[in-house]
Amino acid sequence: MSDRDFDLFVLGAGSGGVRASRVSAGYGARVAVAEDDRLGGTCVNVGCIPKKLLVLASHYSEDFEDARAYGWDVEARGFDWARLIANKDGEIQRLNGVYQRLLDEAGVTRIEGFARLEDEHTVRVGERSYSAETILVATGSWPHMPAIPGIEHAISSNEAFYLDRLPERVAVVGGGYIGVEFAGIFHGLGARTTQLYRGPLFLRGFDDDLRRTLAEEMEKKGIDLRFETDPTAIERKDDGLHLTLNDGSSLVVDEVLYATGRLPKTRDLGLEKLGVEMGPKGEIKVDATSRTNVPSIYAIGDATDRLNLTPVALAEGMAFARTVYGGEPTQPDHADVATAVFSQPPIGTVGLTESEAREQLGPVDVYRSSFKPLKHTLTGRDEKTLMKLLVDPRSDRVVGAHMIGADAPEILQAVGIAVKLCATKAQFDATIGIHPTAAEEFVTMREKASS
Ligand code: NDP
Repeated sequence: MSDRDFDLFVLGAGSGGVRASRVSAGYGARVAVAEDDRLGGTCVNVGCIPKKLLVLASHYSEDFEDARAYGWDVEARGFDWARLIANKDGEIQRLNGVYQRLLDEAGVTRIEGFARLEDEHTVRVGERSYSAETILVATGSWPHMPAIPGIEHAISSNEAFYLDRLPERVAVVGGGYIGVEFAGIFHGLGARTTQLYRGPLFLRGFDDDLRRTLAEEMEKKGIDLRFETDPTAIERKDDGLHLTLNDGSSLVVDEVLYATGRLPKTRDLGLEKLGVEMGPKGEIKVDATSRTNVPSIYAIGDATDRLNLTPVALAEGMAFARTVYGGEPTQPDHADVATAVFSQPPIGTVGLTESEAREQLGPVDVYRSSFKPLKHTLTGRDEKTLMKLLVDPRSDRVVGAHMIGADAPEILQAVGIAVKLCATKAQFDATIGIHPTAAEEFVTMREKASS
């Protein structure tokens, strides 16, 4: 045991930092974790969890309408934003407490305040310095907005969770995960919603069929999607926020949400001074075991900008603890990570997109199924579900599985196991479906759409 204050000092008590702290302590390490905000990080406080609650809330508007076809006479008599936010806050507070208990029960020392590195074995928090054999940076990321005139009038997702009231008219700028998710939330809750994206089609990097289908479905719901469109200035006037758009036109709204990406939260940590190698976005460069070029300093999660997803940060934290304290060198595996976009309808996806598959493998077999979900045969709602499998014809391996439609995230979690296990199309075909489900389509797609 070293004579330093701790074996491990963790900066940041988000998903990755808490997991690494707890598991390291479980291996017997003396661990401290510093946090200057609420426990749980982005995911718990202003990310995955509250976002999913708002998505669930916003879907009720369609559910009430759909209920009529099933014999129910229900009518939404109103929607209370303040009640939703208060209930959401209550749940977040409960989770903050759970995180606190988990750390305490694991014997991790919690330190409140902003932590900064003084040297490669010393961390300063407020007036106190702590020495540690190993330092782990798990400080996450922060919303980034372009510096256009009037950007101070815009909010980020951080503020969207705490608005005093639901805006009547809202513009969402950006075409990534957060943009499409919040456009769906605001629209579902009743706001007149416009989504602006600078490129030709949002969700760059996702399979093109999913991107096109989502755009069609969102437009059908009544969301005003404007591609190749970007604000150049925002001005506050008596009747609202005036956005000047790149085509010279303007848009007046009550709230502008910028969802134009996030940057690693690594400034002012003292990393540059210690010579820790960083990339242009401020991302900390690490090797396959999450170690930086300074041997006593490691980094995980969004701060390293590898694959910015909570479960990936958890896996990186786990691998770190196993490697450094568990005597079991482990590299986090970033291949074939299934992911979901909680758009409406939602997306679930794993593996290569069709264009990536063609680029990497040459010819690929494409299986595609598009149908109206059973639920909507009665409601008459015109919402499509689309599922797609991409198969490497040489090995018969399923290299990509994609879905947009109800329950896609739940379904893709299971399909993700099959893809991770390198299942072949023949093995998908040999699996007997569960009827009647949408998921059974994944094991009954027989006709190649193209190859
Ligand atoms: P993304 O990086 O996913 O998307 C950013 C969007 O903003 C892109 O459409 C991008 O356009 C656009 N953009 C970037 N810079 C500008 C600019 N200067 N002006 C106009 N538009 C711009 O970021 P998000 O903010 O949506 O999400 C951040 C991260 O959080 C994601 O990468 C994801 O890892 C994580 N996340 C995961 C979720 C999930 O798992 N369900 C949910 C929410 C977030 P272009 O495509 O042209 O670059």
